Amino acid sequence: MMMSYDVAIVGASSAGLYAAIQLARGGKRVAIFERQHELAPARRTLIVTPQWQRVLGYLPDDAVLHRISVMEVVTMRETVSVELQDPDLIVERRRFAKHLEREAEDAGVVIYYGHRFQALEPHPEGALLFLRNNHGEMTTVHAGAIIGADGVSSKVAAAAGIDCPPSVSILQAEVALPPGWDPEVTKVWFDVDDTRFFYWLIPESSGRGVVGLVGDDRARTRVLLQRFLQRHDLVPLAYQGAQVAMHHPRLRPWGRVGKAPVLLVGDAAGQVKVSTVGGTVMGLWGAAAAARSLLHGTSYARELRPLKRELDVHWFLRLLLERLDNAGYDALVRTVTPSVREFLSHRNRDEMAGGLWRLPLLQPRFILFGLRLLFRRRQEPVRSTSDRSARVPETECNAD
Ligand SMILES: Cc1cc2nc3c(=O)[nH]c(=O)nc-3n(C[C@H](O)[C@H](O)[C@H](O)COP(=O)(O)OP(=O)(O)OC[C@H]3O[C@@H](n4cnc5c(N)ncnc54)[C@H](O)[C@@H]3O)c2cc1C
Repeated sequence: MMMSYDVAIVGASSAGLYAAIQLARGGKRVAIFERQHELAPARRTLIVTPQWQRVLGYLPDDAVLHRISVMEVVTMRETVSVELQDPDLIVERRRFAKHLEREAEDAGVVIYYGHRFQALEPHPEGALLFLRNNHGEMTTVHAGAIIGADGVSSKVAAAAGIDCPPSVSILQAEVALPPGWDPEVTKVWFDVDDTRFFYWLIPESSGRGVVGLVGDDRARTRVLLQRFLQRHDLVPLAYQGAQVAMHHPRLRPWGRVGKAPVLLVGDAAGQVKVSTVGGTVMGLWGAAAAARSLLHGTSYARELRPLKRELDVHWFLRLLLERLDNAGYDALVRTVTPSVREFLSHRNRDEMAGGLWRLPLLQPRFILFGLRLLFRRRQEPVRSTSDRSARVPETECNAD
């Protein structure tokens, strides 16, 4: 007999698990199909804002490694520190996934491991999913709705004819903290000759942290990170890295196969802030929107509006930042007055949309600064393979 569910979710990612929990608690019969044999994602140290706890509605203590209360920004000639009134949290991805897995099972979600999604077909009452299990056998599942939570190279998106998001490469090395480093301080360095993004050092305990960078080109990102580690006398103990999606305002992360709505969440939907390349909170936010849409029969586009507003603001900020050279970053830091610092210390990076308009009131020079940047050409990314941030790629998602 063919398995049948109200909602089939592809990918036991944090966004997929969180959507499943909400749907099951709302009374839907939900199954998750995950290609891995078990839930054991590679270790990944994540920094998230307190918005993580707000979106979840509680604090999963067991996933929190550490807290950060100061963010220091370093450019070629300037430095600025912002004290975070509500500390950022350092979360370990595997622990968080395990936490969500327990919650999902308690809520009645059925998780099928070792099931790799292959294709979708219309059905008179929804859609059919075709999955290949570990033994090479095909399983067919009927579902009334589908959520694609299968990451940046989403096969669900490809099967439903939905555009995939652009992506960038993140690489970070686990290191012992340099002598004298305050473990409550996270530092980011801007150097546009190396990357249009930034380097970081994020402590995850009193003695250990991760140093990383975002880049357009995977091979070059590795070379740059190794050089940065050498420059700072840091020895890599292990590496963490992957492609991560980037939001683009033109992305429409939904579609339909037969009568079944297909909703994408997390990296599959490009729900990642492109200013900082943070996708954890945004993915949970997207998952909550997808769950509401399916529970209440509302439009996913409408449920996504507040998240899209936030993501669009970060996209616009990146558009401006990419017009800065190193001297421009220095100048930007020099515009940060005590009142701007105060603003930044109270408002986290996941709630910029509601308050960004206040910045020009606190520092009128931002208006001129922003206008000048709008009319300036974007800095050419160094040896980038393609201009990924400026357009939605027209190609299909290339899974794996
Ligand atoms: C090194 C690194 C550091 C990062 N640091 C931060 C940070 O500090 N803060 C932050 O907010 N974000 C950070 N990110 C980004 C963040 O980790 C991602 O945005 C987030 O993990 C995306 O998760 P997801 O839930 O959408 O998908 P993923 O975590 O990619 O999960 C996708 C799931 O789908 C499964 N799957 C894929 N294809 C199939 C298929 N065909 N069939 C069945 N299952 C399938 C996969 O096995 C996987 O379990 C970082 C990323 C990297 C790489």
